[in-house]
Amino acid sequence: MNAHYIIVTLLFILGAGSASGVWWWQEKEKDALRTTYEHRIETLNETTASTTLALTTEKEILSKKVATLSETIFELTGDRDGLQDSLEKEQEKVGAIEKQVGKALKTVGVLDKLSKTDEELLQKYSKVYFLNEHYIPSKLSSIQKAYVYDESRDHKLHSQVMPFFEDMVEDALKSDVKLYASSAYRSFDEQASLKSAYAVTYGSGANTFSADQGYSEHQLGTTIDFVTTGIQGNIDGFENTPAFTWMVENAHKYGFVMSYPKGNAYYVYEPWHWRFVGEDLARELKKDGVYFYDLDQREINEYLISIFD
Ligand SMILES: [Zn+2]
Repeated sequence: MNAHYIIVTLLFILGAGSASGVWWWQEKEKDALRTTYEHRIETLNETTASTTLALTTEKEILSKKVATLSETIFELTGDRDGLQDSLEKEQEKVGAIEKQVGKALKTVGVLDKLSKTDEELLQKYSKVYFLNEHYIPSKLSSIQKAYVYDESRDHKLHSQVMPFFEDMVEDALKSDVKLYASSAYRSFDEQASLKSAYAVTYGSGANTFSADQGYSEHQLGTTIDFVTTGIQGNIDGFENTPAFTWMVENAHKYGFVMSYPKGNAYYVYEPWHWRFVGEDLARELKKDGVYFYDLDQREINEYLISIFD
């Protein structure tokens, strides 16, 4: 062998050797890389698995919470509906109670008004039933001089009747009718002395025209004897005057009625003697064409509460 051949051979061996060395090294690198990736993949898989598990658990917990909340909401809704029902029932009860209280208050109001209204004001008096001698009207006022025939005299009238009387007299004036009071409130004592004066003049006949029933009405303070011009202040001629005709046609509008009309079964005819019974009752009597003393006392009493309305 020559040296050249040996060198070539050696170079070849060296070359082959280093080539295989490179290949081996490369393979080793690949293995290492694979291992690394495999390890990463494994780690990632593990992470994914644990994350999935965690998420699943979380989801379950949340689902449970949602379910619990739904239940709570359902219960609360039920409670709310129940409460709404109860509330409505309670409101109904309160409404009913308010109605009852309203009715009761109304009744109390009526009773209160009645208790404050003098029941004598609509009482029918008779030859056997008189007003108590100690009776005095709750409040009296003096009639204006312009409405009194004899201005030197002071005539008193029940204060609550006064506005009705004044309206009537003023409206009559608009029709040229002059109405004057010749007598209004008379106390028991005044009446007693008047009666004894009549008795002195007319003897026992005084009973037939002076008073008995009529006197009670004057003692009430709600009754007036009227006169007008042209009859010299006498009550006797009143029946034949335009003032009397006007009264017959209009007095009821102001709550006044003639207590003792012609032909009545209770007392002598007194066309001048008018009693205040309230507008409601006076209109009713006029409408039905009956007189105060014709009515039953119980029927009359129903008007007591509205006598001054
Ligand atoms: Zn009279």
